[in-house]
Amino acid sequence: MNRRRVSIFGATGSIGENTIDLIARNSDSYDVVALTGASNITQLAKDAIRLNAQVAVTAHDHLLTELRSALAGSNVEAAAGKAALAEAASRPVDWVMSAIIGSAGLLPGLKALEQGATLALANKESLVCAGGLILQTAENNNARILPVDSEHSAIFQGLVGEDMAAVERIIITASGGAFRDWPIEDLANATLAQASAHPNWDMGQRITIDSASMFNKAMEVIETHEYFDVRSDQIEVLVHPESMIHALVGFNDGALLAHVGPPDMRHAIGYALHWPERKTLPVERLDLAKIGSFTFRAPDEVRWPALRLAREVMARGGLSGAVFNAAKETALNGFILGTLKFTEMSEIVDQTLSNMDSKGGHIDDTMTLDNVLHVDHLAREIAQHLIKQRAG
Ligand code: NDP
Ligand code: MG
Repeated sequence: MNRRRVSIFGATGSIGENTIDLIARNSDSYDVVALTGASNITQLAKDAIRLNAQVAVTAHDHLLTELRSALAGSNVEAAAGKAALAEAASRPVDWVMSAIIGSAGLLPGLKALEQGATLALANKESLVCAGGLILQTAENNNARILPVDSEHSAIFQGLVGEDMAAVERIIITASGGAFRDWPIEDLANATLAQASAHPNWDMGQRITIDSASMFNKAMEVIETHEYFDVRSDQIEVLVHPESMIHALVGFNDGALLAHVGPPDMRHAIGYALHWPERKTLPVERLDLAKIGSFTFRAPDEVRWPALRLAREVMARGGLSGAVFNAAKETALNGFILGTLKFTEMSEIVDQTLSNMDSKGGHIDDTMTLDNVLHVDHLAREIAQHLIKQRAG
């Protein structure tokens, strides 16, 4: 069998490490081209040496010397910075995992598509910020994007062999995150440690906090809209605390196809790695008799204003997804640094969207990479200013 050439962007993160786990179990089948990280140089070097990668890249220029010395004595090249990330993404491969966190994942993803690689997309920010651009780039280069977000992998699997014209609705489930049962009035005083503890999934800290605020689900609603080309009113969010059903597809004959599995990202990663085949994966097999029951509830938009904001973004269109994401990333930094309260994050995003609206005609809304990056930068400045105003 031919060995497949693969690269992993965001290799040191939670998705990256799960991807490495699957690849390392079957290392004879893969040639690893690039592994990338940011601050975690020890982990990056260790994995790059273990998988005999061609190149290891850190996003941070100032960490190049540290990376070089961690790789000393191996055959792995060391590189650093944004341009090096883009260069690594342009090296010929068959399959790329896009698992950088935040809009920093957009450019390497585009470069991978430009060379025609299959892009396993965990970086939902790419679709939220620049859905049209990334899908168009895939089409222009005859490249494929496979969703890795568990809900979107579930929808994708539910649509195999189906006609999109028969799809009435898509339901994505949400665990409800750390605060699903908290009294709403306590949310303002939620601490970083409390928001960073997910009841079901073991993920990176940022997405875990986004799960508690439902910004993660808000992004996923936009991701569904972009990737599957369905209208906002066809997408529903359902709170399902057990996180066993990941999504459901509703058809015009009344059938609902549900995707059921344990909360383990290696399923969705493995599905994208082996697609269009299914291969044995090291995930738990569910014993439904033992689990006994699944529960569901409607999401509460007072508890989770992020869900309303996602609807506004889809109604506005244009580059408002990039504004939404940049404001969210900035507000999340504020919460992590202790300058914003938990409930203030959605207020900052809401205000940034209105503020950018007032700039209306002054911003070029065409979806080009330059415009997306410009709007991303501007929205971060506005959100930062709004955060400072509150503190002062
Ligand atoms: P982590 O925070 O665990 O990892 C993020 C990765 O990105 C790390 O490799 C990190 O490097 C790297 N990184 C951080 N900042 C930058 C930057 N500015 N430029 C380049 N690389 C950077 O994130 P997750 O693995 O949790 O999430 C990754 C993506 O997958 C996100 O888009 C998330 O929404 C999505 N996703 C994650 C899921 C999960 O289960 N974790 C589920 C579904 C989607 P370092 O650690 O070395 O600093
Ligand atoms: Mg998800």
